[in-house]
Amino acid sequence: MAVCHEAPPNRQRSFIVVAYAATSPRAFGPVSMPDRCVEEMGGVVLATPCHIVVSHWRGRSTGPCFPICVAKCVTHNRAFTLYPPSHIPYGRVGVAPVALDGETLVHVRDDAPPESEAGVRPPSTGTAAGTESPPLSWETTFLAAACDAAEDKPWSRDDGPLWWQTQRRRIVRGAKLFGIDAGLSDAARDIHAGELEMAALALRDDARDWSRASGYQSRGAVVIHAMGGLPRGRCVLDRVLVAGALTGLWGRPYRWEPRRGQLRDLLAERQRPP
Ligand SMILES: [Zn+2]
Repeated sequence: MAVCHEAPPNRQRSFIVVAYAATSPRAFGPVSMPDRCVEEMGGVVLATPCHIVVSHWRGRSTGPCFPICVAKCVTHNRAFTLYPPSHIPYGRVGVAPVALDGETLVHVRDDAPPESEAGVRPPSTGTAAGTESPPLSWETTFLAAACDAAEDKPWSRDDGPLWWQTQRRRIVRGAKLFGIDAGLSDAARDIHAGELEMAALALRDDARDWSRASGYQSRGAVVIHAMGGLPRGRCVLDRVLVAGALTGLWGRPYRWEPRRGQLRDLLAERQRPP
């Protein structure tokens, strides 16, 4: 497993994602509180509701750049953070192209150069020819590193949030997320493609291109091509969270569904046989 200071394997842990909404002009909070917690070690959703209250608000100097809610389960005397969609423990930026309310974000930039100028193969949009929809807004996530790389925009050589070493690490994390790095066999990659609802053969091609790519620009281009094949839809967040958990990038994700009143174990749902 690749070691990265942004998600050290020995610090991975389960986490709960909750949709956030504005509570005042400059503050955000969960749209509702989950009705139960998860078992601290086993990550098991408890069968009966707990008494959950707001414990405090934790400031963040990185994304999301507003205080996020730390909940407390009075029943089991434990505290846990409620992460807004796209954000993960120890994460500095979002991991999925979704808004705070969980809605999918699509690409709105109109100043991007044509892909051919950046040396990128045209990405699959996950739609039939002639019915292309705007691509997902990955530039709002850690994969902005790959977007910039593909356009030959190296990050700064000086230490900082956009440091070139960070850019390279995030490109590698992107390859890992989509299962195109060397860590997976073709068979395992096909299963991973199924988790992401992506075309298995396309990911095999991307994996082959990744193995041949040298330099940050070509590697960024391969990652961009892979992420272009992720279908849009309300489940984008769930698919990305599951893919990252399965490839060891972050811990086990749970998502609170206010309308269903259900704390969902995303990994268990995906691994359940049909
Ligand atoms: Zn509890």
